[in-house]
Amino acid sequence: MRFLITNDDGIEAPGLAALVEAAKGLGRIVVVAPAGPQSGCSHSVTTQGPLRVETTDRGFAVHGTPADCVRLALHTICPDVDWVLAGINAGGNLGADVYHSGTVAAVREGVLHGKPGIAVSQYRKRDLGWHWDRAASWTGGQLPTLLARPARSGRYWNVNLPNLRPEDPDPEALVCPLDPAPLPLEFRAEGDLWHYCGEYHTRRRKPGCDVNVCFSGKVSVTPIDLY
Ligand code: MN
Repeated sequence: MRFLITNDDGIEAPGLAALVEAAKGLGRIVVVAPAGPQSGCSHSVTTQGPLRVETTDRGFAVHGTPADCVRLALHTICPDVDWVLAGINAGGNLGADVYHSGTVAAVREGVLHGKPGIAVSQYRKRDLGWHWDRAASWTGGQLPTLLARPARSGRYWNVNLPNLRPEDPDPEALVCPLDPAPLPLEFRAEGDLWHYCGEYHTRRRKPGCDVNVCFSGKVSVTPIDLY
């Protein structure tokens, strides 16, 4: 199996290395990732100027967005890949997050070109740190199952890892739908500036949907259909 791996946190991000670690041994990997952080850029693409590509020891670094990386990769660098994997994002991409996430957009761009994909994100609570080794291990546990499923046209998988304490046992995974609730609307005024201050950790959690599953300490595995 051949994988294109990308992210939206940039080619230097530890989450990208964790995803490479999770997928290695399952096939051939080509990394084409943004040269710098692009979180929250959604499905933005560069069409009004050139895209500079550097070859680094981590892979191809594109001075552009995650969707640019996938477009360029599928057109030039590795058009023969079977799957597009994105992540592991530093932060959850649950519910309404999928619409502004660059990580999820990368996978969605692949799906538009007929390549199935998996977006992986690590939810983080404020008082718990990153544990990329565990994130890699949990992702490695999910990949064979998802890769073995017949790829339905137009469908991709959105996986979110829970943020557990180091002493907690490995989480179970649950296939669940995307939470339909919007993120909370909270803005703080400062003169004529409005600062978004919605509380991610206390957002609405519909029982059985991905936000609640991940916040409750399980891996949420959500199929999303483009059409
Ligand atoms: Mn990100």
